Amino acid sequence: MSAVGIVAAAGSGLRLGADRPKALVPLGGRPLVAWAVATLLDGGVDEVVVAVPAADHDAFAAVLPDGVRLVEGGATRTASVRAALAAVPAEAAAVLVHDAARPLTPPAVVARVLDALRAGAPAVVPVLPVVDTTVAVDAGGTVTAAPDRATLRRVQTPQGFARRVLVEAYGALPDGVELTDDAAVVRAACVPVGTVAGDERAAKVTVAHDLALAELQVAGVPGPS
Ligand code: C5P
Repeated sequence: MSAVGIVAAAGSGLRLGADRPKALVPLGGRPLVAWAVATLLDGGVDEVVVAVPAADHDAFAAVLPDGVRLVEGGATRTASVRAALAAVPAEAAAVLVHDAARPLTPPAVVARVLDALRAGAPAVVPVLPVVDTTVAVDAGGTVTAAPDRATLRRVQTPQGFARRVLVEAYGALPDGVELTDDAAVVRAACVPVGTVAGDERAAKVTVAHDLALAELQVAGVPGPS
């Protein structure tokens, strides 16, 4: 099964407070985007398309291996993935969409997603259990619901799809609609989304504290596993 990886790397990283796009911020001396691309290739995808901020094309090209294709991202993650998906060859059977902001995702997570697709799943996401009681609140901060946490999962990337399923779902999604992940796009098209085990090391780098934790992991300080 031929599989193409997409890395969404066109975010600004405002919440990280960095002086450059988040995906170019170094972790252990290597930009986040380079970690994410390596994870996909090590986990078994055949090629990678990266959505980058238009103004930073050359800076991304300089830190990525030859053969990685760069496309201009959009104003939202949804628009960036849509642009990258248009550059995926029609011969690809599967597409895995990954966040540059999850640099330390083990390749084994990629392999689990690929295995589920090979077994016939149209869509699959890596997930972890929710360990905290999780509530919904109203605009005033008052708790309005407390779903049974046993039924809840935290969703990570890479998320895997049969290419045709993802292309059709994005095609049916009106321009300008913004969703936080790609599973939401296919669910909007009524496609069932399966799950495989995620990994704590696939945590998202959003704020400076997350980057500090990731640096400890790279340095070999025992962390969550
Ligand atoms: O902002 P957030 O951390 O949720 O972004 C998740 C991923 O989506 C990041 O890797 C970011 O670079 C990417 N992104 C993108 N295009 C945007 C916004 C975010 O590719 N316009």
